Amino acid sequence: MSVETLYIGSDAVGALVRYTRDQGLRHFILVVDDRTWSALGEAAYAALTTDGADVRLARLAGEEVVADGERILELLLFSDSEPRTYIVVGSGTLTDLTRFVSYKLGRPFISLPTAPSVDAYTSSNAPIVVDRFKRTLEAQEPIAVFADLDVLCAAPPAMIASGVGDILGKYVSLADWRLGALLLGEAIDEDVVKAMYATLYSVADRVEAIGRGEPAAVAALMQALLNSGSAMARWVNSRPASGSEHHLSHFWEMLLLQEGRPAILHGAKVGVGTVLMARAYARLRSISRDNALARLARTAGRDAEEIRTLIYAGYGPLAEQVLADWVPVFPILGELWSQLQERLAEHWDEVQAVAADVPPPEVIVAQLQAAGAPTEPAQLGLTVLETDDALRYAHFMRDRFTVRWVERALGFQ
Ligand SMILES: [Zn+2]
Repeated sequence: MSVETLYIGSDAVGALVRYTRDQGLRHFILVVDDRTWSALGEAAYAALTTDGADVRLARLAGEEVVADGERILELLLFSDSEPRTYIVVGSGTLTDLTRFVSYKLGRPFISLPTAPSVDAYTSSNAPIVVDRFKRTLEAQEPIAVFADLDVLCAAPPAMIASGVGDILGKYVSLADWRLGALLLGEAIDEDVVKAMYATLYSVADRVEAIGRGEPAAVAALMQALLNSGSAMARWVNSRPASGSEHHLSHFWEMLLLQEGRPAILHGAKVGVGTVLMARAYARLRSISRDNALARLARTAGRDAEEIRTLIYAGYGPLAEQVLADWVPVFPILGELWSQLQERLAEHWDEVQAVAADVPPPEVIVAQLQAAGAPTEPAQLGLTVLETDDALRYAHFMRDRFTVRWVERALGFQ
């Protein structure tokens, strides 16, 4: 399945009303929170009811909406016996909640994004917090997206900058994916890779204009975010758009959640993670083939025990949940490790070529700054220790191959 209609422009509510009429959709649940009600929700509600549609309003209360079990129940309570199409007015979290609930109820949903802040609008998975641990659960794509350009441009500048961070992260996620294909024979699709680079450059080339909030540039950012989400949905998992830079973001997010600290915008964390991983790629480029071979000889024979110990050290009470992903990998770990070592030695020049496609960290820093996005963990309120921990442990959160595994094979911690 894919999204049928993607609209980015003025009067998105008018386009929505025309669409629902054309599709014969007459019964809705309109999902909003206090903020998105005033941004666009009220206008959508008024336009749909004026058009004669039956609209049930699901207004989620409170300041910060988290996609967790409590909110899922809250949203479920708004459903009735009428088969309704969900319309969600909001950004990442509200959309993920609606994506999940509508999927479980077997109902379609329509997205009205209020900020170009994440690439998740058109994705099919929903990150939901279960037992204070974020899980990626199966859900569905929207049948249509109506993005109102005036609303997007009026979004808080930090949210627009967050979208830029999420897209610039693709420098790293695409390189990580290519390394996985090269070194572990992971499945990859060159057409998807090419399309994702085009999406990435469409934003990288416009960071100043996006930072100034120019409508055409903000529209290009929104288009890039929708493309990226669709690429993930087509690939079944998030591989094309999420690598080691996202692992750092997930690690920090989990940490804040555990400690009950306020959340940080997803793309802000991803942007900072991208700078850190661009440093890893720069370090990789500085290693000669001879040096690499000497390093590889010293790290032979890593085993499951070592990973288990590190996961316990890094994740404390959540270690068992993290380990669950690793249990199926452990029996073949020794084999994978020697394959990785062999192929690194054999394909060193190609590894260097992949690393060279990640711009130097100072270039990415300049791009993020032009868009008004943070570039250092301290700007996010994260300590040096929390940064070191993320670098040391974040890649264990998913069994996904990234540059951090290459670094481990080369003897970097
Ligand atoms: Zn992301």
